[in-house]
Amino acid sequence: MIRYLSKSSPHGKRVLVRIDANVPIKGGRVGDDFRIRAALPTIRRLLRNGNRVVLLSHHSRRGQTLKPVVRVLGRLLGENVAFIRDPRQTRNPPSAGVLLMENLRFWPGEEASSPRFAKILCRWGNVFVNDAFGVAHREGASITLLPRLLPSYLGITFAAELELLARARKGAKHPFLAIVGGAKIETKLGLLARFNRIADRIAVGGGVANALLRAKGIAVGRSLSAPATASTRKLARSRKLLLPVDAVVKDRGVRIVPIGMVGAGERILDIGPKTVALIRRSLRSSRTIVWNGPLGLAEEQEFARGTLSVARMLDRHRGFVLIGGGDTISFLDRVGLRKHFRYISTGGGAMLAYLAGEKLPGLEVLRK
Ligand code: ADP
Ligand code: MG
Repeated sequence: MIRYLSKSSPHGKRVLVRIDANVPIKGGRVGDDFRIRAALPTIRRLLRNGNRVVLLSHHSRRGQTLKPVVRVLGRLLGENVAFIRDPRQTRNPPSAGVLLMENLRFWPGEEASSPRFAKILCRWGNVFVNDAFGVAHREGASITLLPRLLPSYLGITFAAELELLARARKGAKHPFLAIVGGAKIETKLGLLARFNRIADRIAVGGGVANALLRAKGIAVGRSLSAPATASTRKLARSRKLLLPVDAVVKDRGVRIVPIGMVGAGERILDIGPKTVALIRRSLRSSRTIVWNGPLGLAEEQEFARGTLSVARMLDRHRGFVLIGGGDTISFLDRVGLRKHFRYISTGGGAMLAYLAGEKLPGLEVLRK
């Protein structure tokens, strides 16, 4: 039985809340606060019920401090938010109603799922809430151990995302097209191998595509990719797969080349116009579309064209369009398109995993 925070809430407790504050941070400033906003309903509900809240999160860059998130949270909540530099500290905690813990990945115990580290975190609260859908497909002290040690709840945004995804999974009309790009190559390739079951077509870009091209023996120069494995070779042969046919590459200069003509010193940084046209054609006849992962180095305008074209086509699309992933959503935000989409998930890998029918460890452990 999952306990939903939306239905019942603890009162007057110190509550550990796992959120996903893995936001872009540059020069000490938060670039995009979408994921922080996603945690607000849970935090507000807990505060309304007289709880004190201790927020836990990782940042994907192990050495990145979460300190800049304090200001953003304070502004969004209109509350004083205090920062804890080290969960092991034994001094009395600050008296603020909301505390944010430093990036949990500063301590190896988080990713190693160390019971000792989980016990240290437990000193900060007596109830646990998970509102971090984006990491539910992973293990970790703050994801899969805390719920074993404390009475636990499923957070409000997490629950809402599950509901949306459950609907997408059950009600998906065909043809179903998945568009997947980005840099987390191993995770995504593993999931795509299973996506074959639900999708009719899988269009790829970014590092994901490069790894698949490489698995077919096609040269990708110095591009972001991954070594071929048996399962990527198999996936690369799938008839559902739509591989790029051209690319924007860069060495000393930038040029557009057909796939197969990438020079040894070049890097593929975007899909080319012919590939965009291919995706457009496939989109036309698709009734359900799930998109995760930028199709190129979209932080740089020069290499954002493919990703932007796809975003615009999806904006005009009349089927069911679901988009997820931290960097994908940040991109939509940057180009002013995020508000155009109704179905958005904070999770990239987690969204794909759930749709592919995988069990999410962070969710399973809450069923007790
Ligand atoms: P998401 O967070 O949306 O799930 P990922 O984290 O997997 O996506 O990947 C996002 C990153 O992938 C972005 O920073 C983007 O610049 C990078 N990326 C995509 N395509 C390429 C490419 N061809 N070369 C280098 N980086 C790429
Ligand atoms: Mg990302």
